[in-house]
Amino acid sequence: MPAFSKILSLRAVGQVRHYSAAAQSQLRDILGQQLSAIKEAGTFKAERIITSSQSTQITVQGSEKRILNFCANNYLGLANNPEIVAYSQQLLERYGAGLSSVRFICGTQDIHKQLEQKIAQFHGREDTILYASCFDANAGIFEAILTPEDAVFSDELNHASIIDGIRLCKAKKQRYKHRDLADLEQQLRSSDARLKLIATDGVFSMDGNIAPLARIIELAKKYNALVFVDECHATGFFGATGRGTEEYDQVMGEVDIINSTLGKALGGASGGYTTGPAELISFLRQKSRPYLFSNTLPPAVVGVGLKVMDMLLSSSELSQRVQSNTQRFRDAMTKAGFTIAGENHPICPVMLGDARLASNFADQMLTRGIYVIGFSYPVVPQGKARIRVQISAAHTEEEIDRAVQAFIEVGRGLKVIK
Ligand code: PLP
Repeated sequence: MPAFSKILSLRAVGQVRHYSAAAQSQLRDILGQQLSAIKEAGTFKAERIITSSQSTQITVQGSEKRILNFCANNYLGLANNPEIVAYSQQLLERYGAGLSSVRFICGTQDIHKQLEQKIAQFHGREDTILYASCFDANAGIFEAILTPEDAVFSDELNHASIIDGIRLCKAKKQRYKHRDLADLEQQLRSSDARLKLIATDGVFSMDGNIAPLARIIELAKKYNALVFVDECHATGFFGATGRGTEEYDQVMGEVDIINSTLGKALGGASGGYTTGPAELISFLRQKSRPYLFSNTLPPAVVGVGLKVMDMLLSSSELSQRVQSNTQRFRDAMTKAGFTIAGENHPICPVMLGDARLASNFADQMLTRGIYVIGFSYPVVPQGKARIRVQISAAHTEEEIDRAVQAFIEVGRGLKVIK
């Protein structure tokens, strides 16, 4: 019997003892206590198991019924687009399952270079570097380019991956109050760092609110600073033609460094990137650790990105559709008496305040066939619990109206609206 099967069969009859049995039982105790505390606090995250593709209508384990999905980052509705899936299949067959290599050893195919060029073209930048995710792109950039002589100024509500990326670098770390330009200016004014880098999300995903980019860029010019923007919740659909926050705020081309994801609007598979000046991208290929020490994107995933880029370079119809769907939802909900946070963005947080109310509200929406999620502390501040609705270009007007109607019925029942 091969050694591995022997171990498995011994395990099955309980004859394998771990050398670290005491240490492992200590670990189980420590983690078990923390898990119980998380459950008691009502913040335990359970996974709902989807049995269909990602779409506006999904099926979930334990139910035959289709439910209407309003909580994916599938802003352009491309996650199960047949043309994209077919192209991805073609690349899978032609280029194989994967490269078994990092990019610089033997993990770069012509399709990786094509995708990098198309992304640069879409954003109007000189060059792009791909990563396995935007989390990696954010983890890899600050440490690579900033030294102890430099300083980074980060919005206090930036995404966790920006926070972690900044933690890894040796630059002076400064946090400014959320979207507070006076605080940012005061900190820039008193800094004598060599490079100053302002880092912000373009769109903040919990509130659906927008960084004041035009005014951040003015400050950057005044104090000779660089601007880095994470565009995960903007690329492909926000701004008139989907070019993101810089287009929305009418400062196209003025951001120095853009990081974004292929895992949300752009087909929803996975992958991330940095796009910007040629020297920066070339330098990241030499120094950025998630790029140097992690496997290359698989061809099928590159295929998704390539097809989506072709679609977005030839038409902005989908971004216009998500914008009009967003307007329809926000208008109807506001008219019904709900408070919707954020600005003109398909992230539409329905503000409820109380954590139990938010979770109860989401449960009742599900019984009406609408899948939305309640967010409460510590994901959002204490007392600011909400249901975060996300609108897609793929929602029909009838689906949006159905969701609004369900919100109204549940909202009346729970006395959130009259
Ligand atoms: N940045 C922001 C603002 C995000 O919302 C996310 C995803 O949740 C990421 C970065 C990470 O992107 P990815 O899923 O490609 O790692």
